[in-house]
Amino acid sequence: MTTPFPLLVNLLLSQDPKIRSRLVFSWIAIYGYAAGSIVLLLAAHMGMIAGPPVYWLVGFIWTGVSTFYLLVRSGWSSRLGYPGMDFPQCLFALVAMMAGYVMAGPIREGVLPLVALLLIFGVFTLSPRQVLLIGALTIVCLGSVVAGMVLWMPGEYDGRAALLKFTLCALILPAISAVAYYVASIRRRMTQQKLELRQALAMLQEVAIRDDMTGLVNRRHMLQLLDQQRERQARTGEGFCLALIDLDHFKHINDHYGHHIGDEVLKDFALAAVSVLRQTDVLARWGGEEFLLMMPSSDPQMERALQALDRIRAQQTALPTLPDRPITFSAGVTCHPDGESLRETLERADRALYQAKAAGRACSVVLEEQNSLTQASPEACAHPNVRQ
Ligand code: GH3
Ligand code: MG
Ligand code: MG
Repeated sequence: MTTPFPLLVNLLLSQDPKIRSRLVFSWIAIYGYAAGSIVLLLAAHMGMIAGPPVYWLVGFIWTGVSTFYLLVRSGWSSRLGYPGMDFPQCLFALVAMMAGYVMAGPIREGVLPLVALLLIFGVFTLSPRQVLLIGALTIVCLGSVVAGMVLWMPGEYDGRAALLKFTLCALILPAISAVAYYVASIRRRMTQQKLELRQALAMLQEVAIRDDMTGLVNRRHMLQLLDQQRERQARTGEGFCLALIDLDHFKHINDHYGHHIGDEVLKDFALAAVSVLRQTDVLARWGGEEFLLMMPSSDPQMERALQALDRIRAQQTALPTLPDRPITFSAGVTCHPDGESLRETLERADRALYQAKAAGRACSVVLEEQNSLTQASPEACAHPNVRQ
């Protein structure tokens, strides 16, 4: 939202959207307090009511209002565990209104619309139970104040008129409270539904980017991450290397132990591999028993990519599901030069993987940009878990 005085608005309302939404209510309340204070001061100035108690009351109101405002604006109220301080603010307003009612003399009925304003505030800031409580407290306070005035200020207050006015208020206030309770309940239900929707959306987003079985990033999301990394490389120079990993003779594992054991091996592999990768590396299930590892770096080097694969190989020697049978994999490694298409880089990684398989499996083959074969030795590849 663009505002004419963004600096002033940020200072008064804060940039934090949560604090800001709370302070919008504070400013409307300040408007109500200002209106009440001005009318009381004018009445005192015109000699309609005694000045000193009014000055004390106005001082009390603005001390309280500024304290609440500063607590919410500074975020201290959140640290105290009560972000909006809504209920204490309503109680404070109730006390101020009752004091105003006592002091306002001939204009005291003017305070009553402010009581309705208080309940309207409650609708938007309090829980349904708190709304009811404030409604009940308002009736009790008003009754006590009226009774007190009839007893101690008999000359100023006509007991019968007071009783009738109070009876009317006491009959109307529950109706206002009931409406306020109803709206506050709807508001709470909507807040709850919004939260549930947000959680469901977050879960759906998570499901959409993950592979069910291994929990790794899925192929579709990996393609998005690769695109983002490619753009970052063009912008900041931070490049990346890729390793296309394929488990060796996996069909045999399925045939020999069963498909469900094959599934367990895929999960074991993913867990073990992720445990030795850097936080910035991303391992995706590329499909079947193929995985794609992206290793971003400000200085991408094949050697470092091979070290990462070595760490994964070391982890794979004894997977929990098949502890007696070492699982091996072949990998095709390449780095992405700036300006190249993703398709070209992926095809090169695929060619490198093909060469690793052809060279005897259980090894990594590096293909550089010029398609030169820099790593792979059939002798070494003949042995599981050995990289040349
Ligand atoms: P190579 O060393 O040449 O890669 O041999 P391989 O047997 O691993 O290769 P191939 O591509 O012929 O077989 C891959 C097998 O992986 C075939 C397929 O049934 C199995 N597979 C693919 N996805 C899954 C899966 O989600 N669970 C299980 N258990 N097996 C899978
Ligand atoms: Mg395969
Ligand atoms: Mg395979």
